[in-house]
Amino acid sequence: MLKVVKFGGSSLADAAQFEKVRQIITADPARRVVVVSAPGKRFSADHKITDLLYLCYAHLQYGVSAEGVFSMVVERYRSIVADCGLSADIDKEFLALYEKMQQGISQDELVSRGEYFAARLMAEYLGFDFLDAAEWLQFSFDGQIDREHSYEALRRIAEDRSVVIPGFYGVMPDGHIKVLSRGGSDVTGALAAAALGADVYENWTDVSGFLVTDPRIVKDPEVISTITYRELRELSYMGATVLHEDSIFPLRQEGIPIHVLNTNAPQDPGTMIVENTCSKPKFTITGIAGKKGFASITVEKSMMNTEIGFGRKVLGVFEDNNLSFEHMPSGIDTMTVFVHQNEFAEKEQQVIAGLHRAVQPDSIDLESDLALIAVVGRGMRRTRGTAGRIFSALAHKNINVKMIDQGSSELNIIIGVANDDFETAIKAIYDIFVITRL
Ligand code: ASP
Repeated sequence: MLKVVKFGGSSLADAAQFEKVRQIITADPARRVVVVSAPGKRFSADHKITDLLYLCYAHLQYGVSAEGVFSMVVERYRSIVADCGLSADIDKEFLALYEKMQQGISQDELVSRGEYFAARLMAEYLGFDFLDAAEWLQFSFDGQIDREHSYEALRRIAEDRSVVIPGFYGVMPDGHIKVLSRGGSDVTGALAAAALGADVYENWTDVSGFLVTDPRIVKDPEVISTITYRELRELSYMGATVLHEDSIFPLRQEGIPIHVLNTNAPQDPGTMIVENTCSKPKFTITGIAGKKGFASITVEKSMMNTEIGFGRKVLGVFEDNNLSFEHMPSGIDTMTVFVHQNEFAEKEQQVIAGLHRAVQPDSIDLESDLALIAVVGRGMRRTRGTAGRIFSALAHKNINVKMIDQGSSELNIIIGVANDDFETAIKAIYDIFVITRL
């Protein structure tokens, strides 16, 4: 049994967090491959190490001394070394890094040191080997991850060892360090799990799993115990995030489940993300997510339904203006296209003119400040009345539903409402499916 485990920045913020990680690792011998982020915030006004390192680089760029910010970084690691009783001589390495900064260092190399030092210290604390990501995570010349060679390299070097790997970066073919996008340690963890054929990929954060909805809208929402990759994709697309989206593909391809867990409450069951499951969801819906800031363009033309190619011509206008659309509900004589308002605003008049030219509509109606809400759940497929319950909950709150779109997978229902009704609508849907069922 092998568990590849990744700890986020808040799980490494200080010595007390290091100790929690150690307890989690020692509680299960299957946890042999550990991937770490750079230390995160210890309290809300604190700084993440990665942010400080980006700031250091900005100072260097503008020819301003980076000494003050750099010493904040060094201090954070020094206190971890002292409080954990470690012997690593990091001062010497930081001095060498500072010299390299004066001579010219790339931004990627500098910010990658956050993860590098975190992994070095964690390896010593756990008594594991430090395994540098630069030894196996390889990019191709075009900057894409070279999965084949990376997997092969990791298998060769990590086989049967207990290791700590820094997340977030890898190496270009010319030997230069390159970082992934922000939050990329999740991706490193996922790649390591896929390469080594892990039984599970554990992603330890500071929340007890994936929540049914946004805690900024609903206080203390329930945790989702099991979610499928497809449901996760629908919810993430609508703005719900726990994991870096690029981390899903390598795991899904190998059929490896993800277990999202809380370092500060390791006894909590967390969320399992799986390809498929027979487990019955606790509620009819799995999650609710949404986004504000959409606009809709409704094109009306009588007898539109008989005009072959009408839809293609309408969408062609959006394509010509380089606009992607989100949803496209249609009626007999109307077709509505939902787009991101900020992208549409600057092209509005070109689109209207283009539509007139392309399909000679009877009218074009525009509406802005709309929000889209996705109600997602594999349980909806076999339950009758889900849509009815959503709409009566919204009607009770006096919310006008502007659009309804049920995905053909029956996995989701998308609802359009005014931006101002967004929060009330999410609360109403949460209440009807979750609160009344508890
Ligand atoms: N430390 C990096 C960041 O802050 C990567 C990560 O935490 O996953 O984006």
